[in-house]
Amino acid sequence: MAIALFDTHGPLEPLRVELRAAIERVLDSGHYILGEEVRTFEREFAAYCGCAHAVGVANGTEAITIALRAMGVGPGDEVIVPSFTFYASAEAIPPTGATPVFCDIDPDTYCVTAETVRAALSPRTKAIIAVHLFGNLAPIAEIQALGVPVLEDAAQAAGSISAAGRPGALALAGTFSFFPSKNLGCFGDGGAITTNDPDIAERVRMLRFHGSRDKLDYELVGYNSRLDELQAAVLRTQLAHLDLWADERRRVARRYEQAGLGEVVRLPRATQGSSPAWHLYVVAHPQVKRLESALADAEIAHKAYYRKPVHHQPAMARFAASAELPATDQAARTHLAIPMSPTLTSEQISQVTDAARRAL
Ligand SMILES: *Cc1c(COP(=O)(O)O)cnc(C)c1O
Repeated sequence: MAIALFDTHGPLEPLRVELRAAIERVLDSGHYILGEEVRTFEREFAAYCGCAHAVGVANGTEAITIALRAMGVGPGDEVIVPSFTFYASAEAIPPTGATPVFCDIDPDTYCVTAETVRAALSPRTKAIIAVHLFGNLAPIAEIQALGVPVLEDAAQAAGSISAAGRPGALALAGTFSFFPSKNLGCFGDGGAITTNDPDIAERVRMLRFHGSRDKLDYELVGYNSRLDELQAAVLRTQLAHLDLWADERRRVARRYEQAGLGEVVRLPRATQGSSPAWHLYVVAHPQVKRLESALADAEIAHKAYYRKPVHHQPAMARFAASAELPATDQAARTHLAIPMSPTLTSEQISQVTDAARRAL
């Protein structure tokens, strides 16, 4: 493809020397699990998010399971989650013993709203997972006003910001993924949980380490789910550049708008008061197949990430029997991710926009 969907390589080229030094620091220390790099990254990432605690874990999926358990979610409980999201947002719920209950989204922002969540509430609702999809920020304050604890799934939203602060610091707890293609990625799998609540932070720390504080007494049935020292060292290097990359992602979104892309397809709308660091730039059109083939002809990469939304996935059928989610089904049919990365040039943005214009 002449234009890639995203670029995980280009932004790191100027950081090679720094990254090599970070990796050597870990080699020199001879310490690979839960050492100084993880402790320092946790401190730096909490400060970046603007919250009291960050705890590194093995990936963004286990981050959700562990955060929910630390919030007291267990067997018999229900957890509300959107269906228009990456599968893992919902997959992380059953391992707690709780049941996912799917809710709809706002088709313009692709995020859940207080109204779509309210429609899924029941007396058994123990928590709500608000996914900051594509980097857009779900309206957390309005959702929290429903009176149920909220977990932010911020896997796609590192670098985004709103008037109320950064994702990870907006609700009771937040979770991140550092999968290499995310806005803040490492060189493998990694994740984190953020919270201002000291009790949740302490339970999360125990749960990621077999439910123990000291490797002598095991108080909970936990997990082996840790962020590696090597990944933490890589993340510390990259965190220093996250805001710069986020600004470039915003520049690309502005250029798509200025180029007139919104005249031919529906552009994603930022939620009120938010400034998303678009992880994916997802447009929509009723005749999306025509857009897909035109982009393919022009060698422009594109991807329909959630054509089959989570509540239609076979493994979720038993949780989704009664789910009616019209906006989700519409978004699933019509959405398409087009190229987005900090390194996308104005010329490439024009090429994508011209191809869309010709097709539609
Ligand atoms: C990537 C992602 C996850 C899972 O993160 P992993 O690190 O891949 O386990 C969860 N939720 C959303 C919205 C994601 O995009």
